[in-house]
Amino acid sequence: MTALTLSNVCKSFGQVEVLKNIDLTVEENEFVVFVGPSGCGKSTLLRVIAGLEDATSGTVEIDGERVNDTPPAKRGIAMVFQSYALYPHLTVRGNMALGLKQARHPKSEIDRRITEASRMLSLKPYLERRPAELSGGQRQRVAIGRAIVRNPKLFLFDEPLSNLDAALRLNTRVEIANLHRQISASMIYVTHDQTEAMTLADKIVVLRDGRVEQIGSPMELYNNPANRFVAEFIGSPAMNFVPGDMIGGSTNTVVGIRPEYAQLGATGPLSGTVVHVENLGADTNVLVNIGTDKPFTVRAFGQHDVSPGSEVGINFEAGNTLTFGTDGLRL
Ligand code: ADP
Ligand code: MG
Repeated sequence: MTALTLSNVCKSFGQVEVLKNIDLTVEENEFVVFVGPSGCGKSTLLRVIAGLEDATSGTVEIDGERVNDTPPAKRGIAMVFQSYALYPHLTVRGNMALGLKQARHPKSEIDRRITEASRMLSLKPYLERRPAELSGGQRQRVAIGRAIVRNPKLFLFDEPLSNLDAALRLNTRVEIANLHRQISASMIYVTHDQTEAMTLADKIVVLRDGRVEQIGSPMELYNNPANRFVAEFIGSPAMNFVPGDMIGGSTNTVVGIRPEYAQLGATGPLSGTVVHVENLGADTNVLVNIGTDKPFTVRAFGQHDVSPGSEVGINFEAGNTLTFGTDGLRL
């Protein structure tokens, strides 16, 4: 059964249209990521799904039922925010129990659910601590635990890892993926980080300026982007774009070449001066000024002795390029 269906959802704040004709389905147990630049409407869309904002027009259906007029608490969802929003005077156990106590669940049931959630999130040793006695990562796990104990059909995460440092972000990302494998529930996860989107999602929804640009699996978006925006947003380092006539194509086209599909050589169809080298150990990003507005990035596997100032050629296979019209659409 389809867990969530959005049909022609629009949202305006006063005169400002923030969401424009959003159509979208989330299947049962699916992990869907909304990704896009800051300000594109991701949080607003999540809040419309949660019922924290009303859609200006269009319908929101959960489990096949229209919920536009259903209050948040009755939608069978749980939301996890970037700011953990824990009660500082309550212990971890108290924070997780609060919603269940308010819903008058029996104590034995509350204890059972907290035991299960704290096992999944490795929080057992911390159950009697207060939030101030926890690290940021642990606090976010408590916020996730508080969502789990409510047994929602649909989890909504709004940039839950943004306040964590890089190592914790990676750990917590893996935990969220594991959690999804253990719990049968649909998840919608908002991020501006394409790596999080690529690593977590069954299905990615790319948003830009309140509109859906493309919906697809991570590999569909990587291999087959519908337009230049998606091509540039998905993949890191970002795709290079070269005017078609620089490489024997039409003047009215732009050719996209991913850094990992380009190789350095003595000569090549493109050439220029190395302006910067990023030695990452496992691979090397070489930025080459080829006379366009942005340096061309070549991602070379392994370690390479290349210095800024050297003249290099760039090679690539025609089969590994994508062509776009000047309007940005794929040709
Ligand atoms: P994102 O989460 O993708 O960064 P948001 O959904 O928070 O973006 O915001 C999308 C746009 O809507 C922004 O331009 C923001 O300023 C505007 N916006 C969000 N909430 C409100 C509000 N309550 N009133 C007016 N404008 C808002
Ligand atoms: Mg946001």
